[in-house]
Amino acid sequence: MKKITEHVYHVGDSGCSVFLVNTHSEDGLVLIDCGMSVEMIKSITKVGLKPTEIHHCILTHFHIDHIGACHDLKEYGKNIKFYAHHLDAKAIEEKGHDSKTAASWYNIEYIPISLEKKITQDGEILHFGNYDFKCIHTPGHTPGSICVYLEIDNKQILFGQDIHGPFYPAFDSNLEDYQKSMKKLLNLDIDILCEGHFGIFQPANEVYKYIKKHMKINKP
Ligand SMILES: [Zn+2]
Repeated sequence: MKKITEHVYHVGDSGCSVFLVNTHSEDGLVLIDCGMSVEMIKSITKVGLKPTEIHHCILTHFHIDHIGACHDLKEYGKNIKFYAHHLDAKAIEEKGHDSKTAASWYNIEYIPISLEKKITQDGEILHFGNYDFKCIHTPGHTPGSICVYLEIDNKQILFGQDIHGPFYPAFDSNLEDYQKSMKKLLNLDIDILCEGHFGIFQPANEVYKYIKKHMKINKP
C-alpha cells in the first residue's frame, strides 16, 4: 500500500497493479481494476481505510489479471458496483471466454460478475464524490480497453493499465487502433501515469516518453 497523492493509492500487485481513490464521500473508495486476489485488498487497513468502504470498481478491460478477483471482492460488500466498456463486457459478464480473458493461460476459473454500467461513449464520465472519472476509450490491446483520467490533488492522473500491450489475435487486439488510442493520450496533459504492470511514471515528460516508446515497439 503506497500513497501516490493525498487521495490516490497503489494498493499492490496481484496479477496487475491495483489502484484506489478515496473520494471522501458516500461513494467511498473506488478501485481501478481488482487484480487476481482480494488478499491484497486487506492491506488498505494499514492506512486506516476499510475494505467495506469500497463501493465502486472500474475495470479497464476484460483480462483475468485485472478482473479475476471481482467475484471475491463482493465478500466486502454485496453492493460493490462494477463498470467496464461495452465492447469488453461480454467476457466479463459471461462464462466461456477463457482465451479472450486469458483465464486459460493462467488455468483459472473465472466467475463472471454483472456490470452496473457499460461505458459506451469515449470520454464518458463516472461521477464519484466530487470527482470525475473520465473513461477514455483506448482500443488496441482489447477492443474495449479504457484508460481512466482523473484530476485530483492538483494532479492529472491517468490509469493506463495495459498501455504496453501485449497484442494477440485471441484478445482481438488491433495495432492500428492502438496507435490511434496512444495518439489520443499524448494529447492529454498527464502528470502521473499509473501503469498496470510497469509502475508509476511521472512527471509529464516521463509519461510522454513511456507512451512514445511503446508506440514505437508496437507498430502495425
Ligand atoms: Zn490486459
